[in-house]
Amino acid sequence: MRVSVLRGVGDVAVEERPVPEPGPGDVLVRIGSVGVCGSDVHYYDHGRIGPYVVEKPLVLGHEAGGEVVALGPGVDSLAVGQRVSLEPGVPCRSCEQCLSGRYNLCPFVEFFATPPYDGAFSEYVVHPAAFTFAVPDTVSDDAAGLLEPLSVGVWACRRAGVAPGSRVLVTGAGPIGLVCAQAARAYGATEVVVTDVNPSRLALAERMGAVAVDVSRTPVGNAGIEPDVLLECSGHPIATRDAIRTVARAGRVVLVGMGSDELPLPLPYVQDHELVLTGAFRYANTWPTAIDLVATGRVDLDLLVTGHYDLDDVEQALTAARRDPSTVKPVVRPVQ
Ligand SMILES: [Zn+2]
Ligand SMILES: [Zn+2]
Repeated sequence: MRVSVLRGVGDVAVEERPVPEPGPGDVLVRIGSVGVCGSDVHYYDHGRIGPYVVEKPLVLGHEAGGEVVALGPGVDSLAVGQRVSLEPGVPCRSCEQCLSGRYNLCPFVEFFATPPYDGAFSEYVVHPAAFTFAVPDTVSDDAAGLLEPLSVGVWACRRAGVAPGSRVLVTGAGPIGLVCAQAARAYGATEVVVTDVNPSRLALAERMGAVAVDVSRTPVGNAGIEPDVLLECSGHPIATRDAIRTVARAGRVVLVGMGSDELPLPLPYVQDHELVLTGAFRYANTWPTAIDLVATGRVDLDLLVTGHYDLDDVEQALTAARRDPSTVKPVVRPVQ
């Protein structure tokens, strides 16, 4: 099979590898569509993200969908020919966090495209059936892959307690901000405001039913909003601080975006308003919800896709955003 391999900083190449064999409980999936994530770009540019360092060739890509082509021993939950979406993190399923249902916090998780575990820019992948979800035909191949970022949005809404009538501010209209905005609407938020400085991304947020605010023209503090939930997706410390200052009393702030390691926190504001601040790390038990949101038309993931690339053009996919600021979500299609 053909596999796109990151061999070093700024160096990806297609290699031939043997098609893997599904072991007990596994399925073999022919990959149809893989979204490019900011983390893939970061590994390509820097060879590391925090403590995760690319020390040997690594296959990138963790937002994957495809079709089951073989079953390992003991698998009866899926069938050959079934279209599927892959949940990319496989936890140990026996530690304290896993047994508490918080398997996203498992310290032993094996996650696609996070060293040393290979991802899905590959014609075939072996994956546990328990983390492989059948999707109906109303979910496109691209959407099957993009259920992964949508899961981040679903998880953020759960962490924030978004409910009917919620007023939600989403800072940052990148792919994660846009799925958070769509998930918030689907969770019943009656007001969803999205901020950014990128006009094409703001236009997309509007198409998704959000109110777009260009904070290069209207600082968020002058936007006349008082959200009870802030889903912070910019990773920008000043944007985060300014947005926190708009949150209503007893509001909730979920820090989703990654960017800087330190945040100037307006402590008197947080204390006086009894804000609840929390992080969000990936997701747990989100795929069934994410699938239903897309299958019923409440969330449209195909709107995010701004380009398709084959395995030979992974480098183009990884660098698309820096060449064209209207890029949102490049998608790699390993099997043409
Ligand atoms: Zn991602
Ligand atoms: Zn565990």
